[in-house]
Amino acid sequence: MTARILNGKAAAEAYRTKVAEGVAAFVREHGRAPGLEVVMVGDDPASDVYTRNKKKAAEAAGIRGVLHRLPAETSEAELLLRVAALNADPAVDGILVQLPLPRHIDPDRVIDAIDCDKDVDGFTPKNAGLLASGRPNLVACTPKGCMHLLELAGTDLLGARALVIGRSNIVGKPMAQLLLARHATVTIAHSRSRDLADLCREADVLVAAVGRARMVKGDWVKPGAVVIDVGMNRDADGKLCGDVDTAAAAERAAAITPVPGGVGPMTIACLLDITLLAARHRAGAVR
Ligand code: NDP
Repeated sequence: MTARILNGKAAAEAYRTKVAEGVAAFVREHGRAPGLEVVMVGDDPASDVYTRNKKKAAEAAGIRGVLHRLPAETSEAELLLRVAALNADPAVDGILVQLPLPRHIDPDRVIDAIDCDKDVDGFTPKNAGLLASGRPNLVACTPKGCMHLLELAGTDLLGARALVIGRSNIVGKPMAQLLLARHATVTIAHSRSRDLADLCREADVLVAAVGRARMVKGDWVKPGAVVIDVGMNRDADGKLCGDVDTAAAAERAAAITPVPGGVGPMTIACLLDITLLAARHRAGAVR
């Protein structure tokens, strides 16, 4: 079997066109564009690329995108003040504080400070709790993008065995919740899990969100499985790659996402969609 390659770039373009239409309708109705504020502290090169891409994508969809670049020595109190100002600004619908933050800033305190109605990352305890309670509000964009790709693959999730490798609040946990909400039988694996290869071999749906280059080997993949590779890593040659050995896994999987061009572009498309949703919620016009 050779897997269908799930083209996240093309799917994201189609998604972004739909979001742009929604944004245009919002502007017609409310006389203002949805506003997304991206806050970055320090000069991490990867964060620099991500935040600029987010602002650019927002503007391309008609969303007012603002990037706040704060110096690495910004104190936690100063960052909290910036978040409070954005919370209070009625023109702001979405606030995203790019992680990781410099070591002297506690990310939990910052995330806790974000107004949950503007929390377009879906990281605040309230939004995470609502998702876990089966009442999703603003949902983390990477897992949301993964669900879209599973849909694109025509994956039948009802009763399927799904394995999520990774238990971060950003990807693994919300991903597991979304799969559970679609009636998959979900297992979450992490660094202490035993017999990971065997767990993988039982999975109809395999989501890898680890951060280790090509850790999931081809023969770990169940024949006919759908594989979603969230990982963004550099291999020993500096080449961008995922958590899955894509070429080998594609020999067994029914469908697989490439890296790059899979989950990454969908994450940004979903961020825009969630920003529009937050704007609609705040304007009292839920779709
Ligand atoms: P974290 O580092 O927060 O979490 C990694 C998870 O992987 C942890 O739960 C960890 O377990 C688990 N893990 C580590 N080593 C192993 C192992 N040997 N076997 C099994 N599990 C293991 O990362 P994130 O969740 O933030 O991100 C994961 C990957 O996804 C990264 O490569 C990141 O760059 C990428 N990413 C991509 C995005 C995109 O848009 N494409 C967006 C967000 C992330 P434990 O909890 O026990 O430590």
